[in-house]
This record gives sequence, C-alpha cells and structure tokens, in this order.
Amino acid sequence: MATLSNPLSDLLAEKGVLLADGATGTNLFSQGLEAGEAPELWNEAQPEKIVKLHQDFVDAGADIILTNSFGGTRHRLKLHQAENRVHELNRKAAEIARSVADKAPRKVIVAGSVGPTGELLVPLGAMTYEDAVAAFVEQMEGLKAGGVDVAWIETMSSPDEIRAAAEAAVKVGLPYTFTGSFDTAGKTMMGLDPKDIHGVAGDIGSGPLAVGANCGVGASDILSSLLDMTGANPDATVIVKGNCGIPEFRGTEIFYSGTPPLMADYARLARDAGAKIIGGCCGTSCDHLAAMRRALDDYTPGPRPTIETIVEQIGPLRNKTAAESGAQDGGRRTRRRG
Ligand SMILES: [Zn+2]
Repeated sequence: MATLSNPLSDLLAEKGVLLADGATGTNLFSQGLEAGEAPELWNEAQPEKIVKLHQDFVDAGADIILTNSFGGTRHRLKLHQAENRVHELNRKAAEIARSVADKAPRKVIVAGSVGPTGELLVPLGAMTYEDAVAAFVEQMEGLKAGGVDVAWIETMSSPDEIRAAAEAAVKVGLPYTFTGSFDTAGKTMMGLDPKDIHGVAGDIGSGPLAVGANCGVGASDILSSLLDMTGANPDATVIVKGNCGIPEFRGTEIFYSGTPPLMADYARLARDAGAKIIGGCCGTSCDHLAAMRRALDDYTPGPRPTIETIVEQIGPLRNKTAAESGAQDGGRRTRRRG
C-alpha cells in the first residue's frame, strides 16, 4: 500500500473509517436522466443537478464524494458522440465535486470516478493494453485538472484493465484506489476472486491506497466478498460500496430492496468485517446514506460476522460465494441462488 501523504490517507488516519457516498446513476435517473443518456453530459448541460447530488450526500454525512465521470473514457463517450470532449467533461465533473467539497464544514475527499472502458483487452478483444492506458490517462488528466484528490477506479472486472488504469493514475500523478464488481458467482465476470484483489496492482507506482468491491449483486453478496478480502489481508485498507439491497426487475425498471435500516445494518456489518471505507452503490439514496452515517457514528464493535450472520440480518445471497464457485466439488454448493 502507498505510504506517501495524500488527502485520503490523511483523513483515514484521522477518522479510522470513512463513509463514501451512494449511487450516482440511479439518483440521476430519479432526477430525470433518461436510459441511454450519458450522465457525464450533465456536467455541462445540467451542472446544478450534479451539485445537488453531491451536496445531498455531503449533507447526509459522506466523507468521500465520487465525481460524475464513471463513463468518462473516450470509449464510453463515443457511444454519445462525445469522444472529443473527454478532457472538458472530466475536468468539469471534478470542478463540480470540488466546489461542493471545498465549502463543506468538514474535510470531504473528491474521488475521480473511473469506470471500465467497456472494451475487452487483447487477446479477448481488440483493445491493447497501451490503448487502455492512454484512454485512462486522457480521462484522468481531465479529472486532475479539475482538482480530484484520488483516482477512484471502480466496477472493474478485468485485472488487466485495473492495471492499465492504475498505470494511468501513476503517469498522471494521482494516487489511486480500485474496486472490483464481484457479480458472477462471487467473482468478477473475468474471474477475479475477491481474495486476490490485493495483488492486482501492488507493483504499480507505490501501490493502491485502498482496494475493494463495489456494485456487484446485493448487499449480502458484497459483504461475503468483503470477508474474503479482509480475511486474505487483514492489514489492507478495504473499500466496500454495495448496492442497496437486491435489484429487482419490475417490468423494464430496476428497483432496489434496501431500506435505510437495512443499509445501517450493512454498514455495521461492513465495519465488523474490517472495511475502512464504506459506502453505497446502485439504489443508495441520501436517506440510506444518512442512516449509514448514524450507524457508523454510533458503532459499537461486534464480532467478525459469518455468512450466516450476514444472511440473517441482510437477506439471502443471490449468488454463490467465491469459495463455493471455486470449489471443484459441486456437492459443496449448498447455498442456492435466490
Ligand atoms: Zn452499482
């Protein structure tokens, strides 16, 4: 892990555990973003709505806010004919978040959200490693120009793509964190096991400030991934940013089952499982986040949870755990998909 001084590590050292924010996409949809519309375009078209998103999370108690730049590589913006606006859209995303953070009554970290390019790397796809690094450099230069404290690489599936983004952060001169989305039988779609996340980019620059999991399936599943990550390296700074309960399709729309009390339980269990940065992903509103803030402020340490405790408090796992899916013996797969 990196040891150089930076705002995120300094705040972690001061507070011990930090609350990251909630969902960007699902909250912008509730503000009128249309399916298929690029959220990043709102940094210029509707900046007041992005300001409100960040402000609501800061008011709810977030220590870390993520910029509205998840799909901000040229590969993603190309789908919206905006591939030539990478720098300005990312810079604007960072400036908006920076402006909210800088007038908060306490220290708030601005994390520059960097999601997958959506392309597969060679040999599975056409994108070379060098192309991936270049795309992330372009995005991160914009984020840095707008004043982010850290590159926040998230919802990743491919270890190679994580490495490319980490290398880009180092080239640009930003500290970085990364999180995987363990949505496929307890692993990422590309087969990365939560317990192996620590070693993915340890040799790049001075290593990540933190690693972890975000999004994925449900709140119970991500807590299971968290146990694997903190079990594999109890000294690591681990991030968990789980979805708000379980996604449920109603017609073509997705709803998340989590209530504020459930997300408060999730936050406490995440703390007991050793997470140092705890937040919400899809479906997590500022009401959910406020409940998580109270839960962490009122936190009384409990024992390291077991899967059974997690299922009891949060609900059934939707997928197998990584350990189960890694087992060659199918007979061990006692937990079924919901
Ligand atoms: Zn999510």
